[in-house]
Amino acid sequence: MQIAKALTAAKVLNPTAYKNAHGLSSRSFSSDPYHWNVNTVVHILERREYTGCTVNFKTYTNSIWDKKQRDNPEENWAIFENTHPEIINPEVFKKVQEIRKQRHRRTRTGKSSMFSGLVYCDDCGAKMRYCTTKYFEKRQDHFVCGKYRSNTGDCTAHFIRAVVLEQLVLNNLQVVISYVTAHENYFRQIMSEKMSLKSSEIIKSAKRKLAQKEKRLTELDHLFIKIYEDNVAAKLSDERFVMMSEQYEDEQAMIFPSCKPKLQSRSGRMKIWSCSLKRQKSTMD
Ligand SMILES: [Zn+2]
Repeated sequence: MQIAKALTAAKVLNPTAYKNAHGLSSRSFSSDPYHWNVNTVVHILERREYTGCTVNFKTYTNSIWDKKQRDNPEENWAIFENTHPEIINPEVFKKVQEIRKQRHRRTRTGKSSMFSGLVYCDDCGAKMRYCTTKYFEKRQDHFVCGKYRSNTGDCTAHFIRAVVLEQLVLNNLQVVISYVTAHENYFRQIMSEKMSLKSSEIIKSAKRKLAQKEKRLTELDHLFIKIYEDNVAAKLSDERFVMMSEQYEDEQAMIFPSCKPKLQSRSGRMKIWSCSLKRQKSTMD
């Protein structure tokens, strides 16, 4: 919101106006070339491709008959690093995402809490809003569930005073620090066990993803052979064979981009074999 306002005030051309000014076609229309929409800024800030990578499988369709594009969860994305020059440093990009996750809401009074954006409702999981007015004393500032709206929202009036929260966090920190001081070795051991457990979970999940990809590659190999045999047996036209084999190739290349040169030469060979076999067959007939 603040970036969008600053860009609008600085009279920076928005993407639609910039495209129009440079003779590029644009699907959207903008009546004010300097008006920046909040969503446009969010889209730019969250676009991972600007760090020089290619992101595939951001959306998916259920089948070839159901064309509706659905958003794929981020863990299912396939990210290929360094496929083109970066325009945003990956470290800066990472930092921006962290800041966006924990951003503090500005209150009209200019007052803020160190816990703004970090407190979640235990009941519904929504973020809790920091509430204050210029007439409030410090002890009256509080957090309330973001989904609660005077009996019309999705949650009830879960509420905690900011001073109570600060005291609870302080007490907890004191307990943890005194525990660590008294049992330093034991604490180190527990922490290192936790960290190794986490890294083994990451490895397990990476292995699972790799196995899924390999399974799909094998399936695609079988499909290749099947359409090749159908083509030789004249059950599948040449055009259809070329079209389908190209589709399989594209999918394989998306799963493992490094496979592409190998795949191209293999499918190229298959296409040549298929044509020459059919030529031989027709000569024999
Ligand atoms: Zn709630």
